[in-house]
Amino acid sequence: MKHHLLGLLPGEFASIFKERFSEPGYRASQVLDQFYKQRDPDWESLTSAPKGLRRELAEVFSIELPAIADKRVSADGTRKYLFRLVDGVKVESVLIPEEGRYTVCFSTQAGCALGCRFCATGRGGFKRNLAAYEMTGQVMAIERDLMVRVSNCVAMGQGEPLLNPEESARAFFIFNHKRCFGISSRRLTLSTAGIAPAVRELPGKKIPARLAVSLHSARQEVREKLMPIAARHPLPELKAALRHYTDLTNNRITFEYILLSGVNDSPADARALAGFARGLPAFVNLIPWNRVAGIDFEPPDERAVKAFAGRLGELGLEACVRKEKGSDIAAACGQLTQQCDTEYNIFQRPDGETW
Ligand code: SAH
Ligand code: SF4
Repeated sequence: MKHHLLGLLPGEFASIFKERFSEPGYRASQVLDQFYKQRDPDWESLTSAPKGLRRELAEVFSIELPAIADKRVSADGTRKYLFRLVDGVKVESVLIPEEGRYTVCFSTQAGCALGCRFCATGRGGFKRNLAAYEMTGQVMAIERDLMVRVSNCVAMGQGEPLLNPEESARAFFIFNHKRCFGISSRRLTLSTAGIAPAVRELPGKKIPARLAVSLHSARQEVREKLMPIAARHPLPELKAALRHYTDLTNNRITFEYILLSGVNDSPADARALAGFARGLPAFVNLIPWNRVAGIDFEPPDERAVKAFAGRLGELGLEACVRKEKGSDIAAACGQLTQQCDTEYNIFQRPDGETW
């Protein structure tokens, strides 16, 4: 099987090159650097290598990107992409443009096995893990399509990154490496539903990313109902793992907290959340639930959201309300499935944006 250039760190590429080719090592550096400079998945464009070498390289390495099967653009500029991977499996990614920033929400698995009650991805079941090159490939394919450079990557698309830990970590190292995507670790985020043993292992892995934890309730009985995985890793176990993580890394964590009317938005829920976060360097992202067809929750109204945030503030816990993007095209958090099932939209390149 061929190695994929987008799944290799520069040192790894160089050593495979050295093993397989009798050419000098600087040739490998030239090819890799030109690839990341141009971000063009066509061997013919890698002119720093002589034609013959390009042909031989193409026999050992692949550079193709996931195929764009569909894309849609939201009224707020958010774009959703449906990618077809080499074996026909489909995944979605989302691009969120904001002043001076392009954030890609990428998938780490096709589908998800964790079955959270509020999440469209969870309802669709699990298909397979993605390889690192399929994660980095989502980002590069979007960059090419829009002719922009992505500034932030968050593993908040489909799937649970800590159930595909090796490949997800590899993708973050490649996003971060200055000879690859060169994105600062402050602009990379790994989001987990709370796989406590894998959280404990994170400090040792030194993954260049911030950590976000999908909490959604700090009351065990409520959290278990919303997220079946919570029964396997109860809140005390999760908190101990998070303390271990913050002690060793000095990183602040983000709690993601979907607000569901009448389920997790009472004053008692706010107190439980503040209690859980006590002693951890953390802040809370409140997310009014995005509707998913066939799921019977209700997001609270704006007043209730503000009241909940206010209560957290009074309890000494910093919280902000996440402005939802792309909900009209089902591109908002938790609305990703394996198909864009509504009409295709004409895609427009934003004015003045270039490489
Ligand atoms: N599996 C990981 C990462 C992907 S989910 C995780 O759960 O953290 C990304 C975020 O979207 C999570 O915080 C998830 O809880 C949230 N989410 C899922 N469904 C949602 C919905 N319908 N509305 C708002 N947020 C949702
Ligand atoms: Fe999976 Fe995250 Fe959705 Fe839960 S919220 S089903 S962990 S993708």
